[in-house]
Amino acid sequence: MTRLKVSDRLSPNHGPRPEPARIDMLVLHYTGMKTAAAALERLCDPASRVSAHYVVEENGAIWRLVPDSRRAFHAGVSCWEGESDLNSVSIGIEIVNPGHEWGYHRFPEAQMASVEQLCQHLLSRHPIPPYRVVGHSDIAPERKSDPGELFDWAGLARAGIGIWPPEGAPVRDFVVDPGQPLDDLAAIGYCIGAGPQAAALVAFQRRFRPACCDGGLDAGTARRLSEVRAAFAASRAARGRTCYSSRSSVC
Ligand SMILES: [Zn+2]
Repeated sequence: MTRLKVSDRLSPNHGPRPEPARIDMLVLHYTGMKTAAAALERLCDPASRVSAHYVVEENGAIWRLVPDSRRAFHAGVSCWEGESDLNSVSIGIEIVNPGHEWGYHRFPEAQMASVEQLCQHLLSRHPIPPYRVVGHSDIAPERKSDPGELFDWAGLARAGIGIWPPEGAPVRDFVVDPGQPLDDLAAIGYCIGAGPQAAALVAFQRRFRPACCDGGLDAGTARRLSEVRAAFAASRAARGRTCYSSRSSVC
């Protein structure tokens, strides 16, 4: 691996992680602003009260805004595996892209190469399991859609980052059980709670079935849910975890 080149542009927006400090989650975002400069300015503006640990520009430049040891303000109201306050346990990476509001487009190769290198570096430093590498929309499906359906999760998984099982052949006779998606989404880690199931289903599709993110439960999505659920279960089992939350009945 080539040496990671990171420049500092420190943000005042951070606080202490609660003791005992734990860093076992990686949250990927897009900036959703017109330019990288505007995003960096906002993430470093004390009045904005938002930040991330790292920003990756489209040309691959990596900025460090907050030291890993500190709690950055990137996740907001969010939940994964039944756990909230994810800022306390996560590292947040903001990936420069205008986002759905300002002209969402593919993430350039140089940028993805840097994202990959940075993630690998972080996974080597912190005990972050594959099933806790997530997108912002995974942990806040009702509010967020980043990093979105154009983000190359499959490529990252090929580099050992996160989970993205290969997609099976086109579905013909997969039987869709309307009660199954909620169960599958919860087993993967999505918090359904009182929120509408459709938001979590769209978040799932953006991440794992990017060709179709309309919130509809077609046979392809139903089958993809079962594939992803099995991959997450296998990953947890490999780490010796069968239940992910004492508050959850999902095992
Ligand atoms: Zn975000």
